[in-house]
Amino acid sequence: MENAPLARKSDPSHRTVVTIGGTATVGGHDLLIVGGPCAVEDAEQMEQVATRLAQAPVQAIRGGVYKPRTSPYAFQGLGQAGLRILDDLRQRLRIPVISEVMAIEQISAMVAHVDVLQVGSRNMQNFELLKALGRIEQPVLLKRGLAATLEEFILAAEYILSHGNRQVILCERGIRSFDTYTRNVLDLGAVVALKQLTHLPVIVDPSHAAGKRELVPDLARAAIAAGADGLIIECHPVPAASVSDARQALDLEEMLTLVESLRPIAAAVGRRVISPRRELAIL
Ligand code: PEP
Ligand code: MN
Repeated sequence: MENAPLARKSDPSHRTVVTIGGTATVGGHDLLIVGGPCAVEDAEQMEQVATRLAQAPVQAIRGGVYKPRTSPYAFQGLGQAGLRILDDLRQRLRIPVISEVMAIEQISAMVAHVDVLQVGSRNMQNFELLKALGRIEQPVLLKRGLAATLEEFILAAEYILSHGNRQVILCERGIRSFDTYTRNVLDLGAVVALKQLTHLPVIVDPSHAAGKRELVPDLARAAIAAGADGLIIECHPVPAASVSDARQALDLEEMLTLVESLRPIAAAVGRRVISPRRELAIL
């Protein structure tokens, strides 16, 4: 990994702690738990998600407004209208929001409305996009490519870091393999290796790895046990009605149960799941 000088650890205690929206951190002692739907569908859906999750140890809300869909005929996301829904939530509820950026032209609108810009698996090696994200202030959540080696993943992060943005969070989300029972194979070995090789926070997305909701809670707990700095999990008020990734979405109560179950595991590996902020718990 000599060719990734900025991403590489200088010594075993070297860690980057990334601050999100001024209220949450990732990479330090406290875990970052992110929840929300695959796609922002309407204001009512996001209101239900954010008000319920704000009562849980969930520090940020996710929701795609530009969706990388396999078929061009599938729902492509609400675009700017979706960004306004996310911005309204973050301002009223003071909870940070994360959303995927797919193109350089979307960056200027996104930095005005969201706290963290996500680069999806399909764009992990979109080098021009990575360079442009290296020039913004907001943190970038970089997801591992569908079939990217760890070296390719770390070098993708290096593109962002070397263009000036040092706020990069890595996300293991499963890699393609031969078995179709799970959507992807969650590579927890990669989580351990990335924590050893880099100083960057590493979070895990068990939803896209599993592709089936019944596998998500156990994979989430395994990820924390393996040393992940946090989780990003898809959940929806009515999972079966999700416009995308319905099969892997938890309902909101399942999400709350899952995050509560992380507490003893986090404690066992010297980490903490932080409780909701008091002012949000009364919503
Ligand atoms: C997503 O987070 O909704 C998504 C499309 O994930 P990935 O890029 O990991 O497939
Ligand atoms: Mn999804």
